[in-house]
Amino acid sequence: MIDRLLRLRKYLSARKSDAFLICGEANRYYLSGFAGAGVLLVTEEKTHLVTDGRYREDAQRAAQAGCGEISIVCREQGEDLPVTVGKLCQETHLKRVLAEAEHLSVAAWKKYKTALGCGRLIPSQGVIEGMRLVKSREELAAIRRAAQISDAAFQTVLPMFQDGVREMEISLELERQMLLRGAAGTAFDFIVASGLRASLPHGGATTRPLAAGELVVCDFGAVWEGYHSDTTRTLVVGGKPSPRQTELFELVRLAQESALDVLRPGVPAEEVDAAARRVLNDAGLGDAFVHALGHGVGLEIHEEPRLRTTSRTIVEEGMVVTVEPGIYLPGWGGIRLEETVAVTAGGPDILTKAGKFLSI
Ligand code: ZN
Ligand code: ZN
Repeated sequence: MIDRLLRLRKYLSARKSDAFLICGEANRYYLSGFAGAGVLLVTEEKTHLVTDGRYREDAQRAAQAGCGEISIVCREQGEDLPVTVGKLCQETHLKRVLAEAEHLSVAAWKKYKTALGCGRLIPSQGVIEGMRLVKSREELAAIRRAAQISDAAFQTVLPMFQDGVREMEISLELERQMLLRGAAGTAFDFIVASGLRASLPHGGATTRPLAAGELVVCDFGAVWEGYHSDTTRTLVVGGKPSPRQTELFELVRLAQESALDVLRPGVPAEEVDAAARRVLNDAGLGDAFVHALGHGVGLEIHEEPRLRTTSRTIVEEGMVVTVEPGIYLPGWGGIRLEETVAVTAGGPDILTKAGKFLSI
């Protein structure tokens, strides 16, 4: 954590600024290990964690576990957080304070501006997100653990893909199995989209019962120590896929493999997206692939970098991204396959290992 704060201080001095106000939840956790409510004010000498009485103990624990330089400031009862931060800035004579524009509402921005005084609050974007692009060994281990929990949980629900079982039963059992295995939570509301609903890329689980022969798109993930995993599998209820289902499943698998083949350090992210898109375009199904190929995964389920046609990112070692091509045909259904992948010098390291098959 100390390395991260040092990097941020270098950025501060390059920008000739006195402090950085961190308001984004994941960014605050990344720099302090504190998961409660509050903001972080990083100055050249100190890191102030501004929170309230409810989180005092959590804050103290995070401060002790971290770099030992975090001082805790609790706002007074009834006082607005921006007012507490404003007082702190005035006491420590901070004149130029960068703040995360993308993590503050317009209303909160106005409050901070008033509390800090005219011209002292400077908008800044994407700085900590940029630092989070490449994962450390510890971060990779946490994502790997989240993926392992997720894989094991999915294995236990495979017998449930049968006629009459409701989407929600699968979703709830998947969640239960993850929590029993120590997950801190689910990475997002799971997608269990069966039958014609499978053409909805984000079709959350409903009480709809599955019917034999239908496709089910199942998108799930776990959280371990703040880090997420993300997997999608598509199955046919009760086995016995049709020739068309098998044909399109193999096409999506080929699109995914084509993208994984080019995913390595130094490659433009747009080329990874293009590799998968080409396979589906060549089959006349380019229009059915309605989203980007993938996204970064870490403290947030969707973060930088993006693997998409307009991306300017160059893939780097240590990035963790999803590779998730899909086909969505309204009136027929849909198929998506998704892996969470760490980029290494030797190529992609696939962290999600649940079996990839259309029928069980
Ligand atoms: Zn997903
Ligand atoms: Zn995803």
